[in-house]
Amino acid sequence: MAQNIQFKKISQCFLCGSKKRVLKYKINSFKIKFQYKQCLKCGMFYMDPMVSRASVPKLYEKGYYTGEADYSYFDESKNKKVVIAARLSQVKNISKFVNLNNARLLDIGCSFGGFLEAVSKLYPSCDLYGTEISDFAYHHLKKNSKTKIFKGDINQTNFPPQFFDVITMLEVIEHLPSPRKDLGTVQKLLKPGGLLVIQTPNVGSLEARIKKGRFTNFLPGHLVLFSRKTLRQLLKRAGFKVKKLYYVDIDPLSYSKYKLFQKECKEPSRNLIEHYFRFICQLFQTLIGHINFGNFSIAGGMTCYATKS
Ligand SMILES: [Zn+2]
Repeated sequence: MAQNIQFKKISQCFLCGSKKRVLKYKINSFKIKFQYKQCLKCGMFYMDPMVSRASVPKLYEKGYYTGEADYSYFDESKNKKVVIAARLSQVKNISKFVNLNNARLLDIGCSFGGFLEAVSKLYPSCDLYGTEISDFAYHHLKKNSKTKIFKGDINQTNFPPQFFDVITMLEVIEHLPSPRKDLGTVQKLLKPGGLLVIQTPNVGSLEARIKKGRFTNFLPGHLVLFSRKTLRQLLKRAGFKVKKLYYVDIDPLSYSKYKLFQKECKEPSRNLIEHYFRFICQLFQTLIGHINFGNFSIAGGMTCYATKS
């Protein structure tokens, strides 16, 4: 279990620089207690005090991956078939935006490499790279994969500029203490016109608004949370052009949330009816993820395809 997590006060919004913010939610449902504030100028959601940069890797020790930590989803290595199947559909989506044959692709925060494995299945000629900050995931992957994996965050790597055709950040950007800096590095590493894929929770969604402090994506590891508006703003400032933004909770996320619900249901206050009700809601949510009107969306997740402008 993650021990000795240190927090650091945030002096201003990383997106717009404003110091004006409001306390939104205090989250007390995990062993690690934390709170979110919202910038009054741009609407950005962020943890404040925030888990310190030095403490971030402590959140992703063994218990996070095996499902033992109270804020983890499920053991990916034991549900490999599900993960790969879901990731294959994601690779197909990405291939609509870029030719993956002979492309060079980097997956930031690649975990156990499920996504990279899916790419190699469909596009064996694709040159694959991954980064991972977690010791546990890194050593697991090193043992089981031939992909080129680098331990550390994107700013600690030494890839040459304009090296990649595609960079993916799948359920990763919300875990970063300074996403603006990281996207600056990503921009430098992409070839002109290269594709960036970001999949992240949507804090502006109807699901988040209804659930308020019980939004499933309020987790100790989620340091910043985007809405469609703030994600677009960040991408624009970092030198990207948004091609498409989908509000679909793709399968691995839905499945992992379902597992989290299952875990919650083991608490005595939950009953079987609620358990199945939530499962049906989860399925329904995947379907309604396709519905959106401008800035309004229902589902709690989004996937954005952007090119280096
Ligand atoms: Zn702001």
